[in-house]
Amino acid sequence: MLDDAGLQPLREAARLSPDNLPLRQHLAGQLLAKGYLAEAEAEYRAALLLSPQNPDITAGLAEAFVRQSAYGPALAALEPLLAVPGYPPRLGVLAARALLGEGDAARAAYRYHEAVSRDPSVGDADLAARLAAPPVQPSATPAQPYAAAAQDDQISAEVERSATSFDDVAGMEAVKEALRVKLLLPVQQPELFAAFGKRAGGGVLLYGPPGAGKTHLARAAAGELGASFVNVGLADILDMYIGSSERNLRATFELARRHRPCVLFFDEVDALAARRSDMRQAHNRQLVNQFLAELDGVDQHANEGVLVLAATNAPWYIDVAFRRPGRFDQLVFVPPPDASARAAILRILCRDKPLAEMDFDAVARITEQFVGADLKGVVDRAVEAKLHQSISAGRAIPLTTADLLTAAQAVRPSSVREWMATARNYVMHANDSGAWDELLPWIKGGKGKW
Ligand code: ADP
Repeated sequence: MLDDAGLQPLREAARLSPDNLPLRQHLAGQLLAKGYLAEAEAEYRAALLLSPQNPDITAGLAEAFVRQSAYGPALAALEPLLAVPGYPPRLGVLAARALLGEGDAARAAYRYHEAVSRDPSVGDADLAARLAAPPVQPSATPAQPYAAAAQDDQISAEVERSATSFDDVAGMEAVKEALRVKLLLPVQQPELFAAFGKRAGGGVLLYGPPGAGKTHLARAAAGELGASFVNVGLADILDMYIGSSERNLRATFELARRHRPCVLFFDEVDALAARRSDMRQAHNRQLVNQFLAELDGVDQHANEGVLVLAATNAPWYIDVAFRRPGRFDQLVFVPPPDASARAAILRILCRDKPLAEMDFDAVARITEQFVGADLKGVVDRAVEAKLHQSISAGRAIPLTTADLLTAAQAVRPSSVREWMATARNYVMHANDSGAWDELLPWIKGGKGKW
């Protein structure tokens, strides 16, 4: 028999003052502790009406559900709280129990390990053992703890050592300077930063037309800093299975943290960080929330030595939550190159090739709408033609200005003009708190014809 001494007066008191939240919560807790699960559930539901989204009450309700094997309702109760970055870890453990009850061992393990990594005291040895056990028939090989498998098998982003530095990036002096201050100085001169009470951290969002050199710049920043470089594309993260994308994202951050100092670069970040209000699917919102949580880190040291850079052609689609301090708190426009920058890019692209006397300025003049990627196309094309000539001649024939001019005629530049037209729309009509001010001189015609 359950010992229910003392419950009756509590029930009575709650009936007399139904709006007394602490009292109802206490009663619910007692009911749960004593195993009156259905009654506890009803009490928690009533308490939740008085204090919606209260994590303690939600936890109690979810536990009452789980212990009644009502796993779906438990998850439904927990979901709104789990979507908030930094949610209480014990809620993650409860979600893990519910997910395991539903037979979703993979997501259960993910939730469990995520929660315990933030607060080991919420660990549950029994649950951990069930999660580590093979999901089907026991096999001859010992069970692998799920977290380890998730990290090593599922992640496709790789750690590179960058061979380039800012010397390999032509022009963009203002952009390089901004990155130096943001990324490099805090690491190179920590005392100076400390003296001004500033902490290293926070990411940089590089935006601009496609092909203008955002990826090149990020890689060069890693080289400049002597840091590892992890280049994350959409295919490394997005996965059709619910929960897998979040897991990939988490594992990618973990990879970067294991290789600090590290530049962690997200290309096409607008697809991972889109405005939640634009999303119809709850699980896409989950991914955004997970991304925010990873950027914030479990504590202030979590992302120390990890410099997060991201690139997008469509910064206006990104949820404003990403622009808060400590996240992508600096927006840097990577502009299309002007004539002197184009000449400098061509010089860099050609520097390890056999060259005649070159007039890069002449090529820059006829490539007005070209961005770095287009110029690379020009050089690649000219080199290929030269290679054919050299093979026929049996000796290396140096590249000439004329070769580049000919190749430039054949290459169609990317659509920077269209990009500028879209940008103009956003800047003129939705320049929220001046976020895109850096673009103004470009779209108002002060910086060339677009
Ligand atoms: P984005 O990431 O903006 O789409 P990329 O970084 O992929 O553009 O640029 C494409 C290529 O153009 C690079 O691999 C690089 O060779 C060249 N490039 C672009 N900008 C520059 C630059 N400022 N200096 C030297 N090369 C550049």
